[in-house]
Amino acid sequence: MSATSEARILALWEAAADRPPLLRTLALAAAGAQQADVADLTIGARDRHLLALRQECFGPTLACLVDCPSCGTELEMELSIADLAVEDVDDDREAVHLGDIKIEFRAITSRDLLAIAGSSRAARRDLIARCVTTSLPDDTQSLPESVLDQMSAALAALDPQADIHVEADCAVCDHRWNAPFDIAGYLWSEVNAEAVRILHDVHELAMVYGWSENDVLAVSPARRRRYLEMATP
Ligand SMILES: [Zn+2]
Repeated sequence: MSATSEARILALWEAAADRPPLLRTLALAAAGAQQADVADLTIGARDRHLLALRQECFGPTLACLVDCPSCGTELEMELSIADLAVEDVDDDREAVHLGDIKIEFRAITSRDLLAIAGSSRAARRDLIARCVTTSLPDDTQSLPESVLDQMSAALAALDPQADIHVEADCAVCDHRWNAPFDIAGYLWSEVNAEAVRILHDVHELAMVYGWSENDVLAVSPARRRRYLEMATP
């Protein structure tokens, strides 16, 4: 990883650390999208920026550990960014019918999730209600559960990138299943681990040689390791 890449990782980490998970995800997506406000993007569009950022920072191959839900064995999986990218659908609206009323709605955005975060009321109903774009004669709170179920299924179809599963099979018990994959959590783990590693190098070399952060980042990780080995009795 070059000094430029390391400085980028530290900047990403600083922008996202100490935030609740949703805001952390938005900070990373904003960096990937190179635009300040990404809250109004659909979850899938946001996650495409996260996938692009992941490829830019760490390359196209992802190593994952998953637990087999059948026998509990921890399994290693290798995925690629291409495996996780889903083609966008053409429609940005979907509709269901309640009697003669056509209810149109759009895909969920991060702003919708932020709006219902911490809500003590029925979160699913509130979330779906925010996505309705039709003026309804009655309040959306009166929509029957069966309509909400239809809308939930249609919302998932509107934004397939928002809910990614990968095919997994267990080498021990042959169980096959679709494992969920969360690019936001995965990318944050990587950024956090890499930033902590870089900060550790800075700390150690500053202590031993009195170098500044810029001094340390200007030295390649391989050379740093040698300096640290020589400094450690
Ligand atoms: Zn198994």
